[in-house]
Parts: sequence; C-alpha cells; structure tokens
Amino acid sequence: MKHLTAWLIATSLSLSVIAQHISYQFTAPNAVHHEAEISITADGLPPTPALVRMSRSSPGRYATHEFGKNVYNVMAYDATGKALKVEKTEGDVYKISEHKGTVKVTYTLFANYADGTYSDVDVVGYHLNMPATFMWVKGMEKASISLLFSAPDKNWKVATQLKPTSDPFAFSAPDLQYFMDAPTKVANMHWREWKVTNPDNKQYTFRLALDAEAPEALVDYFTEKLKRVVTAGQAVYGELPAYDYGTYTFIASINPYVARGDGMEHRNSTMITLKRDFDGSNELLGVFAHEFFHCWNVERIRPKSLEPFNFERSNMSEALWVAEGFTHYYGDVLLVRAGLLSYDQFQFENSKLVNAVNTPGVQMYTPVENSQRAVFVDAGVSFDRTNYPNMYTSYYTYGGAIALALDLELRARFNKSLDDVMRELWRKFGKAEVPYTLDDVRNALAAVAGNSAYATTFFKEHVYGHQSFDYKKLLEPAGYTLQHTNSGAWPGEIAFKTEENQLIVANNTIRNTPLYIAGIDIDDVIIEFDGKKVHQVQDITDVLRHHKQGEKISIVYAHRNNVINTQITLTENPAVRIVAIVEGKTNSEVQAFRVKWMGAR
Ligand SMILES: [Zn+2]
Repeated sequence: MKHLTAWLIATSLSLSVIAQHISYQFTAPNAVHHEAEISITADGLPPTPALVRMSRSSPGRYATHEFGKNVYNVMAYDATGKALKVEKTEGDVYKISEHKGTVKVTYTLFANYADGTYSDVDVVGYHLNMPATFMWVKGMEKASISLLFSAPDKNWKVATQLKPTSDPFAFSAPDLQYFMDAPTKVANMHWREWKVTNPDNKQYTFRLALDAEAPEALVDYFTEKLKRVVTAGQAVYGELPAYDYGTYTFIASINPYVARGDGMEHRNSTMITLKRDFDGSNELLGVFAHEFFHCWNVERIRPKSLEPFNFERSNMSEALWVAEGFTHYYGDVLLVRAGLLSYDQFQFENSKLVNAVNTPGVQMYTPVENSQRAVFVDAGVSFDRTNYPNMYTSYYTYGGAIALALDLELRARFNKSLDDVMRELWRKFGKAEVPYTLDDVRNALAAVAGNSAYATTFFKEHVYGHQSFDYKKLLEPAGYTLQHTNSGAWPGEIAFKTEENQLIVANNTIRNTPLYIAGIDIDDVIIEFDGKKVHQVQDITDVLRHHKQGEKISIVYAHRNNVINTQITLTENPAVRIVAIVEGKTNSEVQAFRVKWMGAR
C-alpha cells in the first residue's frame, strides 16, 4: 500500500511535468492545385477529450471568417501512429476523446487567396496567414510551438516574425497568440536588410521580403524610400519598439496574381498584398507607412478591448477610431514628412477625411459606435444587402478626420500636436505594454494640452458625441481653406448601371438628399429626367448642366411594377476640398506652421 501510494505520487508528478508543446509540419506536394498537407502534434494533453479547431477570426480583422471551410481529410493518430477516432462537433471543431496525452492531427488545407487574412498555396510559394492555415488545440493556448516547413526549393526563403532556429525552415513561437500573429511567406523573394539604431543604442534589423517581378536596382531604389518611412515613424515616437527577436519584417507581395490589395499589421511584421505590377513608385508606400505605424499604434498601444484576441468569434472594440483612424491619418503624415508625398497630395487626402464627417453614419453614430460596427464591416462576408451608406461611416476616415482636427487644434491652441499625444500614449501604455481604455486616451490628451476640461469636452462632443469640426477655421493657420468641389446642381449621390437600355439606380440613395427625399431607391429605373427620356448616365449629366441649385425637376421612374411621377429640388453637392490660400505662400507664420506639421524630421 505504501509502495503503491509512492508509485501513484511519482506517476502523477511525472505526468504533471510533461511539458505542453505543439509542433506543426507543413508540406505541399499538391501545390499546383493549391493544397497543403499539415500536421499538428500536441504533447502533454490533459486526460480529457482533445478539441482541435480552425479559427474564426484573425489578428487585425474584427469580423468573423470561416477558415474551417477549406479544411478536409482530418485524421488523428497516437504517438505510435495508431489511428484515433475523430468526431466533428462543430463545422470547424474536431474531438478526439480517446488518447494518451499525445495526439497528431493531419489535414488537407485548400488555399488560393493571397491577402492580409487568407492563405495561398502555390508552386511559386506559400503565402500564409496563420489563422487561415493552422488548427490549434483548445486549452493549450499557452503551450510553446514549433513549426517546420518542407520547401521544394532550398533557395526559397522564409519571411516571418517567428523565432528563427539553426534550420532555415524551422521556427518557434512562445504561445498561440504570438504564433497566430506571425504571417509567413515561403518563396523565392527579393530580400533586403538594414539596421536602425534607437536612442538607447539598441539596434534593430529591418527586412523587406518582396515577392515581385522587379529588377534588383528598382528594389534598391524602393528600399531607400522605405527606409525614410521607417525613420519618419521612429521620429514621431522618438524610438522604435523593442521588436521581439530583434527584427521587423515587411512581407510584401506586389504582383497581379494576389487576391486583392490589402495590408495587415502584426507585432514585428506586416503582410502586404498589392494587385499590380511592381514599379517602385511612391504610391506603393502608402500601405507600408500605414502598417508600419501600427507597430506602435494597436500592436503595443493596444486597446484593452482587443486583449487577448479571441480566435473563435468576432472582436469588438470601441477604440478603432484611434487604432485605425489615427493610423490612417499618420500613414500620410509619415509619407509627407519623408518627402514622398507632396503638401498638395497630403491635403487632397485630408479632404477625404473632411468629407467623411459629412456623412449619415456620423450624423447617426459616434466614433465609438462606428468602431463597434467593425465586427460586421471589416471584410465580413454576407449575401444580403445592408444600409451602410445611411448608417455607418468607416472608423478609418472618421477616426482620421478626428486625428486631423485634433492635430490642428493642439498646434494652434496649445503649441502641442497629435505627435505629443501619441508619444504620451506610447510612454504610458505602448512601451509598458499596458492595454488602454478610452479614459486613458482622454487623460493623455489632458496631460498634453495641460487642460483637463478641454479633453473632457473634446471627448464629450467628438468621441461620445458626434459633433463635427470647423475645419475651415482649423486649417486657417496652415494657410488652407475649404472650397466646394462641384458648384453645379446636385440631385444626391447616385450610381447607375445600364441594362437593356435602361438606367437603373445602383446605390442606396443617401438620407436627406433630393433623390432620397423623393423616394427613389436602389434598383429603381429612371425613365424620364426633366421631361426627357434617359438611357445612359450622360443623359442625366446633360440635364443637370442646364440647371441651378434650388430648381425643381420632374422625374418619372419605375419601382418594381409601378411607374411613379415625382419631382426633386436640386441642391448643392456638400463635397469640399482643401485648397491653399494664395496669400499664405508668402506668410512666414503659415510657412512655419506647415514645416512643423508636414516638414521633414
Ligand atoms: Zn490599419
């Protein structure tokens, strides 16, 4: 009995010290048909049924994505290779009830969509976003992970933020959160590296892993410009983050066969896809600047609502107007300061922000509420129609518009800037890796402005409320003003499609515009416009050219089976653009303001 007890204790001790570990192996013998064969081996499983699953969400994307749909041939084995029973309990969850602590699950993955969220397996390389690729074991999220690629070409490189090993095709990650955040490209790529030193003398290695048809000289030319973007980002915060394993990697695929234009931020890397030929132009850099700014703002200056990231459902955050909106604004700020975007182009981009706050989504919802909509709109897929144009404004442009207004106001009123707010957030939350709440952002603004009442009012009016800004006044110190883009008569935002010589309304008409007020909606057929039969868009344009704001015109249109006569009162298109005030060019105060705002660092 004594002996037996001792043996039991020894056994349970030895069981409890078996380290939990997950190892993945990736190979793609049928890459020509976009299939990969993946195995996941879990060691140290507790003596309960093992649940192995695909994710339903992906870092940086807030809507759900059914990655489980592209997984099949799921099998399970024990440590000796004996087959185990696999039971499917949900569309993407597999249960292995009988096991002895080690389970190996194998499956086939189909992947033919290279972007910032999905995966692509092809004979020319593997483009992998981890949640779209790898299953994981519930309850073993903290287990260490190793990953081994079998590549058909030993000259292929692996671009990833995973921890390297002595084997160029083997990597590791401390846990599931890090692993899932580490997109990986295995292919023949252009490769550039450079070092950047922080004020504390620590050096970090930057890498550009570029999958593109491009002569080496053009890649060099582009890399030099990318270095300037990195320097401009570092200047905003005064330092680079302490990148894990010492590197930051730009993984970029710029070619016509990627699925779409996209960019996704990660802690120490970004996954960029641009569906075009690589020409080395400045236009390519916008997405690089935006994603790079994220290595501070959202990856480390991190909303509490996104921690930890949940891989089984959508992730809702009230702070995306900061996380994405401010980053949207700063993407262009970095380019203009790096000399890669002209002042005029910068103001052209800012004009879009100013127009964004004049949309129904802003009239209806606060930036907080629009941020929370991300669980549906962030590349979320649905078949039915939505009324987004009338009740949602993107937290990218809405947040960007707030950033622009706040930056200008802090400069004019307090001799501070949004850079100071970002640095304050970096110092208190980013560098310390303490997730923030919106109260923390309010407090950072109060500290920078040295005025708590100002911050409280700003948040009440523009964050928890949806008051707009007086951009005309805000832009004045920089020598800019607002001008209407179109002075002609306007019926409201309208898009058409033509089918069988019929002019069909192709968009949700916009609340409070003449067409909307008249009851005209998507799918309606415009038959007559101002008494003239119309068949193409030009017919409408021709009529509008002969009218002024305030004039009434008659419309005959078909709605389903009814033909309706109505009239609309034409109005002014509210769209504006930022233009330079001529006098400003010779004004030294204006010049000084512009240099502080947009000049090189
Ligand atoms: Zn972003």
